[in-house]
Amino acid sequence: MSPGGDRREFRVAIVGAGIIGLFTAHHLARAGFGPIVVLDRGFLSNGASGRNGGGVRQQWETPETIRLARESVAAYRRFGAEFGYNIWFRQGGYLFLATDALELQGLDRIYAAVRAEGLGIRKLAPEEIPALVPGIRSEGVAGGTYLRQDGTLYPFPAIWALYESVRRAGVEVRLGTGVTGVLRSGDRVTGVTTDPGGELRAEWVVNAAGGWSGDLARRAGLEVANVATRHEILATEPLKRFLDPMVVRLRDGLYFSQTMRGEIVGGLTVRHPPGTGHGVPTSIRFLREMSRALTGLLPRLGPLGILRAWSGFYDDTPDGLPVIGEEERLRGFVEANGFGGHGFMLAPAASRRIAAVLLGERSDLDPARFGPGRFALPGRDHAPERVQLG
Ligand SMILES: Cc1cc2nc3c(=O)[nH]c(=O)nc-3n(C[C@H](O)[C@H](O)[C@H](O)COP(=O)(O)OP(=O)(O)OC[C@H]3O[C@@H](n4cnc5c(N)ncnc54)[C@H](O)[C@@H]3O)c2cc1C
Repeated sequence: MSPGGDRREFRVAIVGAGIIGLFTAHHLARAGFGPIVVLDRGFLSNGASGRNGGGVRQQWETPETIRLARESVAAYRRFGAEFGYNIWFRQGGYLFLATDALELQGLDRIYAAVRAEGLGIRKLAPEEIPALVPGIRSEGVAGGTYLRQDGTLYPFPAIWALYESVRRAGVEVRLGTGVTGVLRSGDRVTGVTTDPGGELRAEWVVNAAGGWSGDLARRAGLEVANVATRHEILATEPLKRFLDPMVVRLRDGLYFSQTMRGEIVGGLTVRHPPGTGHGVPTSIRFLREMSRALTGLLPRLGPLGILRAWSGFYDDTPDGLPVIGEEERLRGFVEANGFGGHGFMLAPAASRRIAAVLLGERSDLDPARFGPGRFALPGRDHAPERVQLG
């Protein structure tokens, strides 16, 4: 018997029990769409959903993404009441830091887009920043943007809550069950093969495999633009609380926040070979560069111990936008991936649009900007979301 049950026919098989797969299952189950199975070869939180920094921001460059993020913030505010789990969502703000004039121009774009959506983003002069980040070295800080309603949450209880909620709603979640192949008849998906378990029939297959979504799509015979990139992150020993916002520096991708328990959690961009083939180790190089960057900006941290370091995959796309929609090349195969370093903060709203694809509902997302076919379109805008950080 396969883990979780021996039913072999479902209306939908969702590959990936991360925040995207589970939230999508939640919306579908609520709409009475089923039976649903969620398949994950790992444990709960095995993917990026259990490895991220918990940042939730609404500072973006395109109106569509700002709207998704805004709707998601509202959903996370309701999350505790709706699911009965405290995800420790704290709206302590998000501070983007620019170090030169060019980066300030980038922040100007974000500022204009976010203002146009009616959110209270502020531009900060260098001398205003220490009030938000006590002890910050102002040398090299040219200015920033700040949105008070952005914040951080604790990812694990969000995953646990959704896992329990969807199972209560009748969704089967089979952990330890890898999807090894995608079954098709002509240009229509008919199911998946799993290990353990063998063949499962499904009218719809949702590719919510995070950093492995490209691997899965290719297994279904589809060439896709997604690229997995490994990102490292660490947590320090706890300090007395002094920091409210998530801080993100554009130059090197340094980001950090302070948890309720006082640890500093953050990372910075260190390039590793693309793809999932090298697994998710950590590197001395990251520890060195991160320590240097963090203590350089915040000398008050001094000789601070690192409690834990880990890494996970971003699922990157060439334009920095997620991929949401049914494949025209393989009917019934729905892409729900490409969330880069932002899947958690967009999940509640994005997963509603993913569910809408299966439910046959109209979506407000333009397929030319979010659909799987967009990379083949001529004259497409390649970089609508340029800030691929925290
Ligand atoms: C270091 C780091 C920091 C981040 N910081 C933030 C942040 O501050 N804010 C934010 O919003 N986002 C952040 N992210 C990104 C965010 O974590 C992801 O975008 C999000 O979790 C993606 O969720 P997902 O459900 O699509 O994928 P995942 O959580 O990766 O889940 C995919 C699941 O699919 C399963 N799977 C894959 N292939 C198969 C297969 N063939 N068969 C069965 N199962 C399979 C995997 O086991 C995995 O559990 C960060 C990511 C990393 C790595």
